[in-house]
Amino acid sequence: IQNQASRPFDNTTHRWIPDAEEGFVIGEIKSDEGDTLTLLLPKGDTKSLAKNEVQEINPAKYEKTEDMSNLTFLNEASVLYNLRMRYKSMMIYTYSGLFCVFINPYKMLPIYTDSVASMYINRRRTEMPPHLFAVSDEAFRNMLHEKKNQSMLITGESGAGKTENTKKVISYFAQIGGGSKNKQEVSLEDQVVQANPAIEAFGNGATVRNYNSSRFGKFIRMHFDTKGTLVGGDIEHSLFIFSEKFFLEDDVHKYSFVSQAEITVPGMNDEEEWKITDNAFDVMKFTPREKDDLYKLCAAIMHMGEMRFKQKPREEQAEIENMHSATLASKLFGVDEEKLVGSLLRPRVKVGVEWVAKGQTQQQVEWAVGALAKAIYARMFTWLIKRCNKTLQGNEELAVYYIGVLDIAGFEIFDRNSFEQLWINFVNEKLQQFFNHHMFVLEQEEYKREGIAWTFIDFGLDLQSCIDLIEKPLGIISMLDEECIVPKASDMTYVDKLTTQHLGKHPNFQKAKPPKGKQAQAHFSIVHYAGVVRYNSEHWLDKNKDPLNDSAVAVLKTCDKSSILYALWEEYMTDVDREESAQRGKQQSGGRRGKAASFLTVSTLYRESLTSLMAMLHSTQPHFIRCIIPNEKKISGLIDAPLVLNQLTCNGVLEGIRICRKGFPNRMVYAEFKYRYGILAAEESRDKSARKASEAMLKKLVDGDIINVDNFKTGETKVFFRAGMLARMEELRDEAISKMLLALQSRIRWFLAQKAFKRLTMGDEMAALLQYNVRQWNKLHSWPWWRLFQRMKPMLKGMRPRAEVEMLEKRLKEVEDSQAALSEERKKLAEELSKKNNELDDLKGSLERERAAANRRKKEMEELNKSLREEHEAKELLEWKAKEAERERERERKEWEDRMNGMKMEQDNSAAVSQMEKESLTKQLSQLSGQIESMAVQKKAQ
Ligand code: ADP
Repeated sequence: IQNQASRPFDNTTHRWIPDAEEGFVIGEIKSDEGDTLTLLLPKGDTKSLAKNEVQEINPAKYEKTEDMSNLTFLNEASVLYNLRMRYKSMMIYTYSGLFCVFINPYKMLPIYTDSVASMYINRRRTEMPPHLFAVSDEAFRNMLHEKKNQSMLITGESGAGKTENTKKVISYFAQIGGGSKNKQEVSLEDQVVQANPAIEAFGNGATVRNYNSSRFGKFIRMHFDTKGTLVGGDIEHSLFIFSEKFFLEDDVHKYSFVSQAEITVPGMNDEEEWKITDNAFDVMKFTPREKDDLYKLCAAIMHMGEMRFKQKPREEQAEIENMHSATLASKLFGVDEEKLVGSLLRPRVKVGVEWVAKGQTQQQVEWAVGALAKAIYARMFTWLIKRCNKTLQGNEELAVYYIGVLDIAGFEIFDRNSFEQLWINFVNEKLQQFFNHHMFVLEQEEYKREGIAWTFIDFGLDLQSCIDLIEKPLGIISMLDEECIVPKASDMTYVDKLTTQHLGKHPNFQKAKPPKGKQAQAHFSIVHYAGVVRYNSEHWLDKNKDPLNDSAVAVLKTCDKSSILYALWEEYMTDVDREESAQRGKQQSGGRRGKAASFLTVSTLYRESLTSLMAMLHSTQPHFIRCIIPNEKKISGLIDAPLVLNQLTCNGVLEGIRICRKGFPNRMVYAEFKYRYGILAAEESRDKSARKASEAMLKKLVDGDIINVDNFKTGETKVFFRAGMLARMEELRDEAISKMLLALQSRIRWFLAQKAFKRLTMGDEMAALLQYNVRQWNKLHSWPWWRLFQRMKPMLKGMRPRAEVEMLEKRLKEVEDSQAALSEERKKLAEELSKKNNELDDLKGSLERERAAANRRKKEMEELNKSLREEHEAKELLEWKAKEAERERERERKEWEDRMNGMKMEQDNSAAVSQMEKESLTKQLSQLSGQIESMAVQKKAQ
């Protein structure tokens, strides 16, 4: 509310201006000249625009409104602004009349928990914030109360959140419709919820926008009994399986199934996903053999995608490059590899009564492989759905009502729009017509209920012309079907025929404009409700014929009769089968998809499915959920305005608003009208009956020429307004309020001015009085008589009045009495004080004694300490002395030792000297004895 109040713009001063990037920006009106407005843009520049080029801004009370159909100005700018503001605050669901618009938040929000779901149970739409659960609950309640089947149509571009919303819806119904089941067994609710991953695993493919987009339209029905207990479910299948993985696109050489399919998906754990799928199969009670066969078929299809062919030189015949993939695929199919490859390269066809092997070019073989793989996959998918339905049957005999959830690709315009896109757009054209018609019916009912006279226009008819162009004889589809059986026909002969038939004659058929930017070549254009789409018709004949190689099917049928592969083709009558049965004399009765039915084109099948879907939808009460992708970058919180506006156009939200504007889109119950606009006609609004009061109020406004009688209608319970009328009412209300406020303000100002005036005048009077007094005082002050009188006054006995004396005496007595009492008190207190003083003295004495004793003890302790210290010192001295003595002893011991050593050394020295002396003496002795001997010899000799 604060935000609303502080909003710096409104419709009187500002307008929405178209902007290429932002969608719309707010411009301030600088001048208004007739049909043109000059506006100041946010960036500072000014621009002049015609009034019909700008759009009006809604009153602030509609900021972040929950239901955009309440907006006074129902224009694109306001719708975008409202969605943008809500998305910023992560309010991802918003109503727009019958639509519930969802913007992909790209992040997990805690708004789908069981506790949130339980808050929505049995609540009205207006009681709770917009939510998918609110729409679901409404469907559930309508089913029980109105005893009518319901459908929830969830549409949007790829990546907008259809699959996620479908899952949430299913879980919600499973939660509110869950009975008390045997805990041991897998419950039906679980199975219904789990059917989705099982099917998704096969039905989804990666698109540019979304890694896990549902490429098939699925209509999941949940069956309930009369009390609203879930008793079964089923899935309506084969609604347009546009599995791009196996649909061969223009340049077949570029494609291989494996590389074409997204292998790694960010945020997706393959093993986890596989486990989820496998678990889903278990919950759906698939047998191990069935699971195994499914996986085998998938693998075989992958191998088929890897089969490579080349053109034989100088021959109109293809040959296989190598047998590796073919061998693997055949092994998995359980058929003979040579036969399989042979049937692809040289299919046997019957010409007259003979069988001949027809040569195939490389491109033909590649088309055939693609078509065959796609057919196997499509049949496998159909089988899967049938198998799931078998498990989901539950207690179908109890089923009374159902709620169907349709999850289907929305209208889209690409740079290149081919056969599949035509079908998606056509389906959406039909769904939009269904919506318009439904809205018209509801409006009509409401107007009738309210007794409003109004000539009705069925807005569904607006789309009829485009639908006729596509589906009527000589229309786009029937001519395509016809062209498929014309010999030598080509995509271009088809376009020529279409152009001759319709160009310039049918308002919805146009010549394609030359391509702009990245747009591909186109051959014709169709004017759809959401815009002009340029279609490229290349390969339409092939796509429509969906040529199946009969011989290859015959080879596939040679597989194990108990396998799923055989079950897929059991019904299919090949030429060989037909011949065999003819030989056995049987008629070609069965086998709908046989050769006889080869003119049963893809379009025919789609048309059948669409017809049955529409019939089913028409028998239900629909609820519409429109999913919007906010940006291409998968970023949360970012709105790419042109992208969102384009989707609002494509998904019919703006179309819905266009229709709204033609009737009386804004309505208000009488009580609210009386309460809110009573201010405009106070007297008339007094009436107790809200209706009478409102009518009288409106009459007054009309009589006063304030509003136009054509702009509103009064019903039984509500007032209905034309688009924009409520804003006028709001303006009038604002004017009235501001008039009243002005009056109130002027009263207050008058009162305040009066007060100020009084103060001023009184001030004058007071000043005069003050001056007078001061003057008087000054005069008296210097008048001696007066001064004398003042001094004498206290002395004048006669001046003292008697009463005063008596009073004073009395007072004196009182004072004396109280003094006596006080002195008594004082005495008592003094005694008490002396007593206390004595006690204090005693206490002091004993304290003194204690203190003396303590001192004594302290002294004793000091003495003890002293003697202890002395003893300690004596002990230390003794120890020191002992140590000294020890040291002395040590020294003496050392000295003694030294002396001993000295003596020893001396001894040793003297021993050595005596030894030496002894040795020299011995030497001398020996010398002498030698001399004696020689002398003896000499003597002897002599
Ligand atoms: P669609 O089926 O329309 O192609 P999906 O339902 O698969 O698109 O949604 C695409 C992606 O958007 C999801 O994978 C998821 O990441 C995101 N998304 C969709 N809806 C929600 C949601 N309600 N809350 C959070 N993320 C969502």
